[in-house]
Amino acid sequence: MSILNDMAAALANGAVEVVDLTHTLDPDFPVIVLPPEFGQCARFRMEEVSAYDHRGPAWKWHNISMNEHTGTHFDAPIHWVSGRDVPGGAVDEIPAGALVGPVVVIDCSHGAARDEDYELTPEVIEAWEAEHGRIPAGSWVLMRTDWSKRRGAEYLNMREDGPHSPGPTPEAVKLLVSRGIRGFGTETVGTDAGQGAHYDPPFPAHFFLHDAGKYGLQCLANLDRLPPTGALLIAPPLKIKGGTGSPLRVLALIPKETT
Ligand code: MN
Repeated sequence: MSILNDMAAALANGAVEVVDLTHTLDPDFPVIVLPPEFGQCARFRMEEVSAYDHRGPAWKWHNISMNEHTGTHFDAPIHWVSGRDVPGGAVDEIPAGALVGPVVVIDCSHGAARDEDYELTPEVIEAWEAEHGRIPAGSWVLMRTDWSKRRGAEYLNMREDGPHSPGPTPEAVKLLVSRGIRGFGTETVGTDAGQGAHYDPPFPAHFFLHDAGKYGLQCLANLDRLPPTGALLIAPPLKIKGGTGSPLRVLALIPKETT
């Protein structure tokens, strides 16, 4: 057990730092908006049940409600039609061991600053691999865009023709799946680009990731604090029976010397 003793010591002395990749659940945090003919994603809501008062003199608590895909959240394979028959594809069925794993970060922040429809392509991934080595099987791959620093309407970035935000091309997602990744995460409201409906297939990250039993993370924050390689991600969704996803607290363990 010396590995875990060493880890505990590293956490205590700061050699390993815990970085929170999570936005605060807040009624004002944007949720994805679909065309009006479709059902919509509910924002986070919280109502006070009691607050050390006549409704409960010694305690305070809230009732909360939200969509499974509200705030910083996890996408399970059954979220998409391509993954509907993936065995163990609901959040409550995912083995605990799959919820902790290595993470690599592809920095697309410069491209996304220039182009709000910036595409993560196979060429970008291969250039990253030329510098950092092949993406290891079992890794989370996070697309850093610094989109999490946007506020208000700038986050969804809605236009007359829909939202505009960066994301991967179909070919890029297929390449990541071929690397045997664990999942793919973004700072935007979805794993797909804002204009992802116009790819073939539409929403290729959802389509190919979940078809292959891979997971998604979105609305991540603080990706600029992670090293390209060498961090560990802890991302356990709530254990919702038959759930297609869940808000969650996403934590990254990073070696201090890389910050
Ligand atoms: Mn989702």
